[in-house]
Amino acid sequence: MAEKRDYYEVLGVSKGATDDELKKAYRQLAKKYHPDTNPGDKSAEAKFKEASEAYAILSDSDKRRQYDQFGHSAFDGAGGSGFTDFDMRDIFGEFFGGDIFGDLFGGRSRRSNNGPRQGANLRTSVRITFDEAVFGTEKELDLNLKDECNTCHGSGAKQGTTPETCQKCGGKGQVIYTQQTLFGISQNVQTCPDCRGSGKIIKEKCSDCYGSGYITSKKKIQVGIPAGIDNGQSVRIRGKGEPGTNGGPRGDLLVDIDVSRHPIFQRRDYDIFSTAPITYATAVLGGDVRISTVDGDVIYNVKPGTQTDTKVRLREKGVPTLRNKNVRGDHYVTLVVQIPTNLNSEQKELLRKFDEAMSGKNQASIDEQDNGKGKKKFWK
Ligand SMILES: [Zn+2]
Ligand SMILES: [Zn+2]
Repeated sequence: MAEKRDYYEVLGVSKGATDDELKKAYRQLAKKYHPDTNPGDKSAEAKFKEASEAYAILSDSDKRRQYDQFGHSAFDGAGGSGFTDFDMRDIFGEFFGGDIFGDLFGGRSRRSNNGPRQGANLRTSVRITFDEAVFGTEKELDLNLKDECNTCHGSGAKQGTTPETCQKCGGKGQVIYTQQTLFGISQNVQTCPDCRGSGKIIKEKCSDCYGSGYITSKKKIQVGIPAGIDNGQSVRIRGKGEPGTNGGPRGDLLVDIDVSRHPIFQRRDYDIFSTAPITYATAVLGGDVRISTVDGDVIYNVKPGTQTDTKVRLREKGVPTLRNKNVRGDHYVTLVVQIPTNLNSEQKELLRKFDEAMSGKNQASIDEQDNGKGKKKFWK
């Protein structure tokens, strides 16, 4: 990763910038470089992330102080602000729990209601086949997504009008209730009931979005599912969640992966397990057997004298790992010797001869059980 730029430089503000100046600068950059307005533009995406990161740090007074003192090294290491390994965390962030990025972008719970806020994450699921999970796939999802209303640009107010500052909370979005209790005065901060935290009151609603500021429409979303994904894991698509407010970034879309069962293969981590039948003669004499793998059939040479339930390892015929699709698990095959049934009389006789050749010792007892028919012939 290239050397990190100074956060003030990224936002184009001076070191002494006020919170309002930071907010304004970030809002402009976020709008300009947002992935939704620059689809597929990697450099815009990088700039968007860079600005979001800079704003996340500088808008938090504690973090800003640390940054002013120590620079980027203040946030190196575990839980740091770096966006390195970004794509890996796309996939893994979910499993390790904890929303690293939400935390970085958001301080959703800390920041006042009026600042830029990241939109909520959306969650959906998609069913894929066993083979698609092994080799990766691309799916198209139909989703109802909210977008900022074009008519009112998200304000929710009728064209030509603007939302007014809420009288009750003075635009803060929160009200403080003071209560006299036995132990003194207690203060209780609550979301403003009049504006429901937005700090604004819409007198005349936009007729297109009915005052919500958003329009919901059906969208097709492509989701790239990496080779090696397993049932129950999820893929994160950045910026396809709910829209942010006040210039904040969109939330993410989390796609839970549901893998269908395979008729022959089972999977544990990156290894695949299956059974393969071999004939009695092949087990005894050795020979080639055809074994199904996810790469197609392979010919495996069975050693003479192979017992039933012998396990065979087909190296690197398992599932590609998520980190590197060229590194694969193994495929374990249990060879099951098939005992022939419904033999005709000729086959039975050959088998008796075979058995005789093997050993005369157990012959009597075996023939005793035979209903006597073949006995005479055998003992001639
Ligand atoms: Zn509208
Ligand atoms: Zn209010």
